[in-house]
Amino acid sequence: MHKRRHYQSTSSSFHLKKKRASVATVSTRCIIDSENDQVLFYGYVFSNILFLIMKKTKICIIGAGAAGMSAAWSLSRYPDQFDVTVCEKNSQAGGVATTENVEVMPGVFCDINDGVQGGSSSYRNSILLHREVGFDPSPVHMRVSFGQDSHAWTNYLPSDTNGIEIQQLESEIRRFGRYLKLISWLEPIFIFIPIWLTTHLFCLSSHFTNTMLYPLTALFFGTGNQTSNVSSALIARVFLDPDLKLFDYNSKRLLASQADMFAFDKLSHIYQSLVDKCIQLSHGQTKFYFNQSITKILSTNVYTNSNQLIGTFDKIIFACDAETILKILEKPTRYQQTVLGNVRYFDDVTYTHTDLNYINTHYTVHLEFDQYFIHTNINDSSRPLEMSFNLSNYQPHLIKLKRQQYPKLNIFQTIFLNKLESNKWTVDKLDKNKVLLERWWRQFAHVWQHFLFTVPLMRFIQKENRHFLFAGAYTMFNTHEIACISGLAAAHQLGALYPFEKDSLAVKQFDLYMNYIYGECRNGKKTFLQRLTTWLLRPLLWFAILIRK
Ligand SMILES: Cc1cc2nc3c(=O)[nH]c(=O)nc-3n(C[C@H](O)[C@H](O)[C@H](O)COP(=O)(O)OP(=O)(O)OC[C@H]3O[C@@H](n4cnc5c(N)ncnc54)[C@H](O)[C@@H]3O)c2cc1C
Repeated sequence: MHKRRHYQSTSSSFHLKKKRASVATVSTRCIIDSENDQVLFYGYVFSNILFLIMKKTKICIIGAGAAGMSAAWSLSRYPDQFDVTVCEKNSQAGGVATTENVEVMPGVFCDINDGVQGGSSSYRNSILLHREVGFDPSPVHMRVSFGQDSHAWTNYLPSDTNGIEIQQLESEIRRFGRYLKLISWLEPIFIFIPIWLTTHLFCLSSHFTNTMLYPLTALFFGTGNQTSNVSSALIARVFLDPDLKLFDYNSKRLLASQADMFAFDKLSHIYQSLVDKCIQLSHGQTKFYFNQSITKILSTNVYTNSNQLIGTFDKIIFACDAETILKILEKPTRYQQTVLGNVRYFDDVTYTHTDLNYINTHYTVHLEFDQYFIHTNINDSSRPLEMSFNLSNYQPHLIKLKRQQYPKLNIFQTIFLNKLESNKWTVDKLDKNKVLLERWWRQFAHVWQHFLFTVPLMRFIQKENRHFLFAGAYTMFNTHEIACISGLAAAHQLGALYPFEKDSLAVKQFDLYMNYIYGECRNGKKTFLQRLTTWLLRPLLWFAILIRK
């Protein structure tokens, strides 16, 4: 009697979800005689040859910011399936997450994160990704000084030390508390309503709005003079959503506590380590082209600024800004033009400086404590709300330098928002001899239109062209966390499984993103509610196309 047994040979490195796998899992099932080991051997060899000759999916990622690098890292974990090329117009990875070496005192040079600074503990995906390359963020308690003189208040000093008479505003603060709850319940409606309108609906005084609410919103979203147009639902989220909230609401003084935040380590080191990690994980197959601005995408051919063909790809992940995507796509579709064309960008400038005089003139300063300063315009909410930071009270390596060597070290950064309104800026008051670094940024704003015609409609362009996927913070919120999630989500769509499944908060954030931006679950399935939502959103897309014309 021949004993019979089943033998299954499966290419072990294939972990693709069956349904979406761009390369099918090779599984050879042989029924063999236990004595006939040759059959077993040939079956095994055959399956592996088949596996080797199968074509890898060629992927081009345009942009090596947080989104592009998250996608690149996730895909590089599967060197057998993906051949990844990253094209970046700058000389290094990180996008707006940059670090510069500057002379902070005569003869003293130090690294400064001059763009992205940090985030809240809800940034699980960013934290876990950075941990993959050995970096842990440093915890900080956020201390903010709002306004000046009789309108000054902080989130950390006793309320009787504030210039502003918070007791007089108590009834409004309580009303604002009720307003937050209502907005939260009716989020699908209030997501489209700007805060200037809701503050009117709830009869909140301009005093409360201009001294407390707008400065706080400007701090949360870095929106300056677009603050009044921020979607109301976002404010409720950052106060009430247990997974997203930055501050606890207090019915007496508005902010209950110093928020637990974190500051990033030197971002250029983190991003260089991620580049190295991608190369290591992919056994050298992931390629990075720096200083290569992509200027044209013709079908799936990617061209650089010198009109050179980088290559022809199976999939392209656009991880650059929405404006660039529309410029480089040879023929953007009507959907792409509508959804991406709706993202509104503004030119902002940051000055990193040591001009204490300027800071003292514009803010109420507690030099040892404050990390953020918000300048408010008490009588004119249309004027920009300017913001500054004391980087040496925030960035871990600067705090160390200040404590251990230079107790008088104070490096400030002031951001002036929206170049179109530069006539309102006070930049001319800044002592140019004390400016260490000037840098321009082009950022999108969290205006309510963004949450009406871009965020909910992203799902219609994600799968419109089977070769293209869109990632980047602009797909939802302007945060490092969303940028990372968007990159992981694009990689997940291509078969690189979501990597942080053991962390429930990270998973929750990811699933939320998948739901809003792809209209589906992590496993690729669509619930009845998701199908219904997509169906209901289609008329909104048509409406958006119509009014765009
Ligand atoms: C000054 C500033 C401070 C911020 N501070 C914080 C903060 O403290 N916390 C926080 O959570 N968020 C912060 N943000 C927001 C957040 O950091 C960003 O939303 C996020 O990092 C954006 O990542 P991204 O990958 O979507 O885009 P980007 O970082 O903009 O990356 C896009 C990349 O695409 C590249 N690219 C563009 N065009 C081309 C082309 N044609 N060819 C090739 N490459 C191209 C760009 O060079 C860039 O590297 C800040 C933003 C700014 C500007």
